Amino acid sequence: MLANPSDERKTPAWQDQAIAAYAQQCADEKAAEQERFTTRAQRTCDLLARLGVPVAVGDVFPADGLPAFRVDGVTFAGFNDDGWTLVVILDDCPDCGRRVASGVIESAADLGKMLVGWEPRLTHHDDCPAHSPAPRQDCTPVEARLLVALKDWLEAG
Ligand SMILES: [Zn+2]
Repeated sequence: MLANPSDERKTPAWQDQAIAAYAQQCADEKAAEQERFTTRAQRTCDLLARLGVPVAVGDVFPADGLPAFRVDGVTFAGFNDDGWTLVVILDDCPDCGRRVASGVIESAADLGKMLVGWEPRLTHHDDCPAHSPAPRQDCTPVEARLLVALKDWLEAG
């Protein structure tokens, strides 16, 4: 009996099975990630509410994978550390445009301190490509790091 040409192009059953298992695993991981994000969003929202920030969990959006909220022009993000949910303010470095995080905010007073005193430019200064001289091209990455450490040590006096 001649093989049906359409059968020849069919993926063997064992491959279909493996590919289906992989697709299921991807779907499960995506669902688990979404659930973790939703949990973190709720915890971040609760924490911000305790700090007196008027937030609604429905306003959450992802910022670098973190649940973030924008309130009156201020962007907050929540992250997990050792089982605790912590919040920071996110802003862009005015010199290079990269996103920078403030110090951790644990109380209304911390929040006030960040609102009046935190400057993304100063936080980012040491890592900012607009301020850091580019490592010499003939350095290995380890040498470049050593030079930066030496420069910091010399500057610290
Ligand atoms: Zn910068």
